[in-house]
Amino acid sequence: MSVEDTKPVELSLYKAHEKIYPREVKGRFQLKRKLAVWLLLGLFYVLPWITWGGEQAILFDLPQRRFHIFGITLWPQDFIFLALMLIIAAFSLFFFTALAGRLWCGYACPQTVWTEVFIWLEQWAEGNRNKRMKLDKGPWTREKIRRKFSKQFLWITFALWTGFTFVGFFTPIKELAMEIWQWTLGPWEMFWLLFYSFATYGNAGFLREQVCLYMCPYARFQSAMFDKETLIISYDEQRGEPRMRGKKRREVENPGDCIDCTMCVQVCPTGIDIRDGLQYECIACAACIDACDQVMEKSGMPKGLIKYTTENALVGKPTQILRPRTIIYFIILMTLVASFGVALVNRSAIDMNVIHDRNSFYRIVDANTIENVYTLKVMNKGKDTAKYKVHASGLDGLAVVLGLNETEIEAQPGQLVTIPIKIKADKSIANKKIHTIEVTVNKINSEDNDSAAEKVKYFGYDK
Ligand code: SF4
Ligand code: SF4
Repeated sequence: MSVEDTKPVELSLYKAHEKIYPREVKGRFQLKRKLAVWLLLGLFYVLPWITWGGEQAILFDLPQRRFHIFGITLWPQDFIFLALMLIIAAFSLFFFTALAGRLWCGYACPQTVWTEVFIWLEQWAEGNRNKRMKLDKGPWTREKIRRKFSKQFLWITFALWTGFTFVGFFTPIKELAMEIWQWTLGPWEMFWLLFYSFATYGNAGFLREQVCLYMCPYARFQSAMFDKETLIISYDEQRGEPRMRGKKRREVENPGDCIDCTMCVQVCPTGIDIRDGLQYECIACAACIDACDQVMEKSGMPKGLIKYTTENALVGKPTQILRPRTIIYFIILMTLVASFGVALVNRSAIDMNVIHDRNSFYRIVDANTIENVYTLKVMNKGKDTAKYKVHASGLDGLAVVLGLNETEIEAQPGQLVTIPIKIKADKSIANKKIHTIEVTVNKINSEDNDSAAEKVKYFGYDK
């Protein structure tokens, strides 16, 4: 054994990032993705400009601690709705992943959607894949500076518009636009506008597929939701192999259908070769399906060498889209959506709380009457000033006395009114140690008949 043979070999664990230049491709799936981008980004950029009932349709007003969503105002007390929405989002992800794999990644994830637009802008400024590669390799000519500058200008403008729109969900967007116009933007609005613009620019312009490959947690755990019946994008190895191209192909008797043109690799935004099998880097964008279908069409072979399929279908087993897992997810999801809808429709704009006085169970008012004292807290979760009446039920002849003999309670929008109340009862009726009664708060200055009620203990005269 020579000295050279025993010399330690140095291996670098660091692999430098190689820029990916995805080739443009057209096809039925790319058309669907394009529509998804237009629809989702259209909603994002247009929604804050829509007015509903005289105010911004969607406004998350953090300083006032209220969210306006198409005429509904949610307060911190309505946290349950936010929690329900997050649970619904989580179950939707489980359901759609079990059913159709990484549908979310390919069509709806903000990272995918914004990256798509940044790639369009890049293509617009620098040209197609070959031109972009040539431009990057070439020297800094006037043409290269012009194209690079145009791309940066488009990217930065789009990122700033995105940051502005994002802040417009939290600050009335028309006022925000005026503040920018008059250079009177507040420090926090300025910070979040620039921060979100920078995040959009960095994620969609530079990091792109690296966010999916190295940062996204969903890419790591989504395999736990996959089974052999989940829809995946896969290369049909049995049909495609042995792959070969050109002269070699003509010399062989039964070549596989794959002509080894590498179009499927060139269009892939994450730079992988789908022919190597299912990989976590695949974001299911279906660009390789469209590219390969075009190649098959031109070569006079049937489409579908790369297609949506399932692991079972690939080995000739029947596929069951409806299976216990998807059915259970679907039932849970529908139950949650229905509960959310019902809770939202029946949501009261009154929040109330009744607390019994801790100092005495009851007080004797006169020979026939006792009273229990409570603290009543009423919050007006509506948009207008509200007036309320309070009454109690559960025992015959209960009489409610508000604070200093007021007849009603008035509360401004968002105001929490705290008021002592006395509930009087006849000794002979309230004759057990503990009764349960119900205190009801009724809104009286509108026709919506809004009310809220709470059951409380009533201590009786049992001597
Ligand atoms: S696009 Fe189709 S034919 Fe071309 S290399 Fe990919 S799988 Fe083979
Ligand atoms: S392998 Fe195909 S579906 Fe997966 S990311 Fe690449 S192009 Fe998209």
